[in-house]
Amino acid sequence: MSFQNILIEIEKEIGLITNDGKVADYIPELARINPESFAVSIITVDGKDFSLGNNLDFFSLQSITKVFSLTMAYSILGEKLWSRVGVEPSGSAFNSLVQLEYENGIPRNPFINAGALVICDILFDIYNNPEKELLDFTKRISGNSNIDFNLKVAESEKATSYTNKALINLMKSFGNINNDIDNILDLYYKMCSIEMSSYDLANTFLLYANHGVLKSEGERILSVSKTKRINSIMQTCGFYDESGEFAFKVGLPGKSGVGGGIVAVHPNKYSVAVWSPKLNSKGNSLLGMKALELLTTKIEESIF
Ligand code: GLN
Repeated sequence: MSFQNILIEIEKEIGLITNDGKVADYIPELARINPESFAVSIITVDGKDFSLGNNLDFFSLQSITKVFSLTMAYSILGEKLWSRVGVEPSGSAFNSLVQLEYENGIPRNPFINAGALVICDILFDIYNNPEKELLDFTKRISGNSNIDFNLKVAESEKATSYTNKALINLMKSFGNINNDIDNILDLYYKMCSIEMSSYDLANTFLLYANHGVLKSEGERILSVSKTKRINSIMQTCGFYDESGEFAFKVGLPGKSGVGGGIVAVHPNKYSVAVWSPKLNSKGNSLLGMKALELLTTKIEESIF
């Protein structure tokens, strides 16, 4: 069966599910989204694309952007990066403080908030203007120069983000933060506020399905080994305390965000982005998880 026919089947089956998920409202500006929005985009490494629903509407990527900052920091720092942040699943919520104290301010992985804050600190170590570098990099790998921060969303998170402030202060007390805390937080909020469509998101993640080579330019952005490692962190940590469940049901490396997006890759084959804003209790898109489970079940292929 072709991808397009599979997508039509998925849309039908998804339509029968009662979605009792909730749109993230702890960042007030995110609650303004239409909760019924739904989009899927698949792009194959040989350049075919298939889409469904609101696939050109921009949405807030939130934690999905942690993959971009990790890619930038890792490609420059190499293995030294892992003295600042680990690569183990945390088994706890994305914004949990508990482990961080026991583990002396070294976050378990770069995809929980504490880990992403350390990566933002590292971007300040590396660049004079990390905000511009991050946005330029995102535009480049997405192939869309219209991609931008949503400053309303960033401000809205800044006004309510007590836990992220606690996380970064705790890490500073353990000596794992070098730069000014407020600057790092501002970069983090802006990064999380980046918006794109499901089509752009699938296009962006082709990089990770394509062993680190940016198709549009034919340029290598990341080594094969580093791409493997980022994909493996997506597989083990991309969904926080639901990473096991995602591996079990979908069988692909991926990353979620509280804007309702999920992106996943099948190396050598395709990348797929799904958007549905209502989240389950772990902060992952309820229908997004289901749609991806249906996809790999119907095509009878995953990385396992
Ligand atoms: N900006 C969000 C936060 O820090 C990102 C969380 C997410 O998408 N899981 O809470």
